[in-house]
Amino acid sequence: MLLYNSLTRKREEFVPREAGKVSMYTCGPTVYHFAHIGNLRTYIMEDVLEKYLSYSGYEVNRVMNITDVGHLSSDGDTGEDKMLKGAKREHKTVLEIAKYYTDAFFSDCDKLNIKVPGTVQPATGCIAEFIELVEGLLNKGYAYIAGGNVYFDTSKLEEYYVFNDFTEEDLEVGVREGVEGDENKKNKADFVLWFTKSKFDDQELKWDSPWGVGYPGWHIECSGISMKYLGEYLDIHCGGIDNQFPHHTNEIAQSEAYIGHKWCNYWFHVYHLNTNSGKMSKSSGEFLTVSLLESKGYNPLAYRYFCLQSHYRKSLVFSYENLDNATTAYNKLVVRLAQLDENDGELDEAAFSEGKKKFTDALDNDLNTSLAVTALYDVLKLKTNGKTKLALIADFDRVLSIGLVEAAAKVRAEKRAEEEKKNAENAYDMSDPFVAEIVGLIEQRKQAKKDKNYAEADRIREYLASKNVTLIDTPQGTTFKIG
Ligand code: AMP
Ligand code: ZN
Repeated sequence: MLLYNSLTRKREEFVPREAGKVSMYTCGPTVYHFAHIGNLRTYIMEDVLEKYLSYSGYEVNRVMNITDVGHLSSDGDTGEDKMLKGAKREHKTVLEIAKYYTDAFFSDCDKLNIKVPGTVQPATGCIAEFIELVEGLLNKGYAYIAGGNVYFDTSKLEEYYVFNDFTEEDLEVGVREGVEGDENKKNKADFVLWFTKSKFDDQELKWDSPWGVGYPGWHIECSGISMKYLGEYLDIHCGGIDNQFPHHTNEIAQSEAYIGHKWCNYWFHVYHLNTNSGKMSKSSGEFLTVSLLESKGYNPLAYRYFCLQSHYRKSLVFSYENLDNATTAYNKLVVRLAQLDENDGELDEAAFSEGKKKFTDALDNDLNTSLAVTALYDVLKLKTNGKTKLALIADFDRVLSIGLVEAAAKVRAEKRAEEEKKNAENAYDMSDPFVAEIVGLIEQRKQAKKDKNYAEADRIREYLASKNVTLIDTPQGTTFKIG
């Protein structure tokens, strides 16, 4: 499989360190608010990567953190802890909002068919590990204490800007523009490993440390949690493109300084979802969440389908018009699949392999989900039977996870029930007063149920039973049988 590696800036053959096994780390959400659908684009594409690796036969061990402390409003180590800001906004404690938004995140993941990684670890559960890392970095001379905080000394590295060609000057004029400098830093790129001296002394969560009571920096969390569960060698590290700098740059700096060798081989970054007016935001404009889409009548899986239609290394523009188009295409696809008959023929091995090859070729080519979706449509054009086509769709959906098999089965069942209802009605002469009475009573019973008048509904059923009429309830309505 070819995968673009942000570290080498090339597409490379993916070869894990240990044959057949992949260790994968994902930067998890900062749980101070709901995830917006941009954040979720990143988690959808990472989910596709994990599932495709499993589909290809690898045993994937995936770990994700939950950032519940230390992520400040500015990447320049200044500003308030986002968690504290969220807690103040909602007049709750930090732990209360962490729990609430962690649950909300996993509920969104569930709606989008995003599998929960094998290990999920909140940062507040690994403070001892972070302290050990910081101590190690101090002992090795990669860190220093200034003004009460512990900083990583980027001047000790041969190469710090591993993902781009930034210089100290870029930091001065560009990246950190508008952020007031931290006087304690020896070099502009240095970053905090452990805070004890925050401008905000109302920081809620604090722990004892060799450097005083305080809390960890955001970057150290991911190094600590990754190494705790996956050891000193990592195959794939993923996140959104904005995580490249400074977050992932700092993770690499501190991890490799601590372990003394290369840490992670492949870096997978998902480009942003933007709106027509620019960057997606939690604080300005319409805050786009999965629940908001649902409240407008959209199926979350149509949003997943929308994401799959474009490559993860291209920015994607969200608009309701684009989502409408994806929804129409998704629904049409489901209707076409529902027309296939699973009992039509035996599995046609040759056609199955032909269809599958297009799909794996697409995903082997740097996870090209847009071509994988094309491969899905190509299945419909294959000269083979319904059984084989449906088997291919089910196979692809192990990775794409857009619920095609279930959705098609539902449409099929609805159609069948509707036909059964029609057949039952056609079987009797509607001009017969007895049949007309039955149909009328079925309507009355429906209304009684709606009004929660179950006694009346039961009375009608029993009355009809006494006349030898059996009612048959289906999700699409009630039919009957006489005799
Ligand atoms: P956060 O909860 O802010 O820590 O972000 C969670 C994940 O979403 C990170 O991997 C970010 O890189 C990613 N992310 C943030 N904004 C966007 C966006 N507009 N589109 C796609 N991914 C994003
Ligand atoms: Zn991270």
